[in-house]
Amino acid sequence: MHFLITGGAGYIGSHACLRLLDEGHEVTIVDSLRRGHQGAIDAIRSAGGDRVAFVHVDLSDTARLTSTLVDRRIDTVMHFAALTYVGESMEKPLEYYQTNLGGGLSLLEAMREASVRRIVFSSTAATYGEPPPEAMPITETTPQRPINPYGASKLQFEHVLRAECAALKDERPLAAVALRYFNVAGSDARGRVGEDHRPETHLIPICLEVALGKRPHLTVFGEDYPTPDGTCIRDYVHVEDLVDAHVAALRAIEPGRFKCWNIGIGRGYSVREVLESCRRVTGHPIPAQKGERRPGDPPSLYADPSAIACDLGWQAKHTDLDGIVRTAWEWMRRHPRGYA
Ligand code: UDP
Repeated sequence: MHFLITGGAGYIGSHACLRLLDEGHEVTIVDSLRRGHQGAIDAIRSAGGDRVAFVHVDLSDTARLTSTLVDRRIDTVMHFAALTYVGESMEKPLEYYQTNLGGGLSLLEAMREASVRRIVFSSTAATYGEPPPEAMPITETTPQRPINPYGASKLQFEHVLRAECAALKDERPLAAVALRYFNVAGSDARGRVGEDHRPETHLIPICLEVALGKRPHLTVFGEDYPTPDGTCIRDYVHVEDLVDAHVAALRAIEPGRFKCWNIGIGRGYSVREVLESCRRVTGHPIPAQKGERRPGDPPSLYADPSAIACDLGWQAKHTDLDGIVRTAWEWMRRHPRGYA
C-alpha cells in the first residue's frame, strides 16, 4: 500500500514511516518542517530508499495536498501533523484551531477531491480533559470534556471525521479511525529516529537531559496531588507499540464507519516513579526540585486499553517503565543535540 504520512518528520510520524517501510509499504511524507526535522526525513530515506517521498507543504495548501494524493496514488492517510503543547495552546488558541482543526479540514477536502477515503487520525487523551479519579481507567465512553484548546481542537476534528463517515448519500463514504494516545515515550529500537521537541516539555526527555548535563535539575510540577506519592500519574506507552496500533487499526477501517480506541498500557506511573526509573537507567542522580502545579494538569490519567485488545488483539509489549526509558536514553545518548 501507499501511505500519505502527515507530520512524518515528527516524533511519532517518523516512527510510523519506519514501521510501514519495514512492512513493505511505500510512504509519502508531507510536513511543513515547522516542528518536524529534515534529519528525520533523511533517516527514513536511508531506511526506505525509493519507497520514500517527501513533499514540503503546509496542510493549509489543499490544492498541493490534492495533487500529491493523486500523483502518488495514495491509498490511506495517517494524519500526525499537529501542534501538541497544552501550555502553548492556552497562549495561542487560534494557531491550534487553525493547524489542528483547519489543517485537518483542508486534508479531508483534498482526500475527497482525490477520492482517497481511508484515514487514521492521531487523537489524544487530552480530549477527555480532567475526568474525576473514580473515572479511572479511562474508557472510550468516558465523557470527552477537554480543558484546553489542544484537546478541544483534536476532539473537534474527531467530530468532523465521525460526521463525514456518516454522511448521507455519499457514494464513497469516509473510513476513519481515531487513536487516542496517552503519554508516548521511547524510541526506535534500532536508534534510527527519536524524540526531539523544541522546546522540550515532556517529563522523560527532560529527566534524560538532566542526566546528559543539559539542564541542572528537574522541576516536579506539584507534590500535593491526591495520589499515593503526591505527584501526577500518567500512562506511558512506547512509541513502537503505538505505531503497531496504527497498523492493527488498518484491519478495522471500513467505509462509512468511525472507530476510536484508547492507546495506553493500562497502568499509570507517578512523576516520582518516572524520575526514579530515569535515575536507574542512566546511573545519574538527576537532581529534582519541588515546583508549582502546572495549570491544566489532572492528578491522574491512565487508559483502559481493553477495547482495542478485544477488537484487534493489540496490546502494549513494553509495559516495563525502565525498558521504555532505556530506549529513549539510547537515542538521547547517541544524539545529545537531537537532529541538529
Ligand atoms: N512534569 C514535571 N516536570 C516537568 C515536565 C513534566 O513534573 O518538567 C509532569 C507533568 O506535570 C505531568 C507529567 O510530568 O504530570 C507528564 O508531563 P508531560 O509534559 O510529559 O506529558 P502530559 O501528561 O502533559 O501530556
